[in-house]
Amino acid sequence: MKTVDLLIVNSQSIATMNDEREVIRDGGWIGIRDGIIVALGNSDQIPPPAEKLFDATGCLMTPGLVNSHQHLYQNLTRSMKPNGVTGLTEWFWTYFPMWKELDEEAIRTSVRLGLFELALSGCTTATDHEYIHPFPFLMDAVIEEAVEVGMRIMAVRGSMTLGPEQGGVCLPGMEEDEEDVIADCIRLIEKWHDPKDSAMVQVALGPSNLMSSTETVFTRSAEIAKKYGVRLHTHIADDPDETEYVLEHFGKTPLEVLESLGWFTKGTWCAHVVYASNAEMDRLSASGVSVAHCPSATVIDGGLPGGPTPVRDLLNAGVNVGIGCDGATAGDHQSMWMETKTALLLSRLREGTVQAMTAMDALWLATRGSAKALGREGNIGQLTLGANADIAAWKMDGIAYAGSLVDDVTALLQGGPAQVWSSWVGGVPLVQEGKLVGVDVSAEVTRHTKSARRLQAFSQ
Ligand SMILES: [Zn+2]
Repeated sequence: MKTVDLLIVNSQSIATMNDEREVIRDGGWIGIRDGIIVALGNSDQIPPPAEKLFDATGCLMTPGLVNSHQHLYQNLTRSMKPNGVTGLTEWFWTYFPMWKELDEEAIRTSVRLGLFELALSGCTTATDHEYIHPFPFLMDAVIEEAVEVGMRIMAVRGSMTLGPEQGGVCLPGMEEDEEDVIADCIRLIEKWHDPKDSAMVQVALGPSNLMSSTETVFTRSAEIAKKYGVRLHTHIADDPDETEYVLEHFGKTPLEVLESLGWFTKGTWCAHVVYASNAEMDRLSASGVSVAHCPSATVIDGGLPGGPTPVRDLLNAGVNVGIGCDGATAGDHQSMWMETKTALLLSRLREGTVQAMTAMDALWLATRGSAKALGREGNIGQLTLGANADIAAWKMDGIAYAGSLVDDVTALLQGGPAQVWSSWVGGVPLVQEGKLVGVDVSAEVTRHTKSARRLQAFSQ
């Protein structure tokens, strides 16, 4: 067999997340060439020769986790909830005055910090949904930082086009002109969107929600997405405030409105979907719309009425579900491991049974589910031949997992806390032996704190 660039050997187990959810135990290995997994085997099989070896003794190998929904800038205003924000609308009014002051430095430092935090939690593909654009070319700054950090990114060009005088939940001056938004979406797709399986950067279109975006920006985005082969993303069915607003303005439920705007296609993935009738779940499933489930966001303010998200019901209806961290102002942390564990716990709490979500189910959501939501099924979120070598190694031989001898995936997600030991994006090291490769963490945090202080001054 041809020499590989990197061979990961001696793993304790490999959760391949292939269609059969196969786990290779005791001595499995992974061979990588040109950023792709080209060989995979167990201890009875002979691995190819390699330029470099990584000794994964004591490690569970999983696909790098895939984050399907987030707003990276929100880590500049994190953990401010003790101030007593209740409900989505009040939440917007609390944070908008600060986010209105985002400048390029704040965006760049928050994106970097957010990606570092995600990387340490085992994530290798991020999503950044930016719907506030106080300065031009904001999305370009996001993408440039992601490229420099070396994580794959789904850059969602969000927007708010429904100003307060049209009844939108938006501060005066925060809304963008719809023509500017559409022009910027097209510019970004043409400049950055890479349709290839190996893409590091993809672009999607994401009006923020039905309370702050015009109907026409939804319909026009759907047309552009179809023309250019890019994906659509938004928040929907996520809060009683939104249900009330949409019923009042449209006389329909949020999901009914979204469907009427031409968004029920397999190119769409939606954040949250806490509130969906059985008929709406069936419609989501039949049309191929995916859901990005952000578990912490549904409970951190004390819990949504009727929540948390009925993930088991969505899955039983055949809806594809991925995991997202949501912004750090909604979930406070940006750990994909923590969100995956929280998804497991909340589903069990909601349904009252372990079968509501096994650890393997939760890992599926955070890998295969999210990958499908981002339209990248088969090339990320799985350790199989031909997939991108986006890999996480979790060290299972420390104190937290002592005594867990049966099933590493269950140990990882029922136990913890966990931070990734090593990870690779397209075979390139991102985290090695618990440390971000080539990052001066202290300098990055100092830089970030400066912007956070500046923004939070606007909260008074
Ligand atoms: Zn969100």
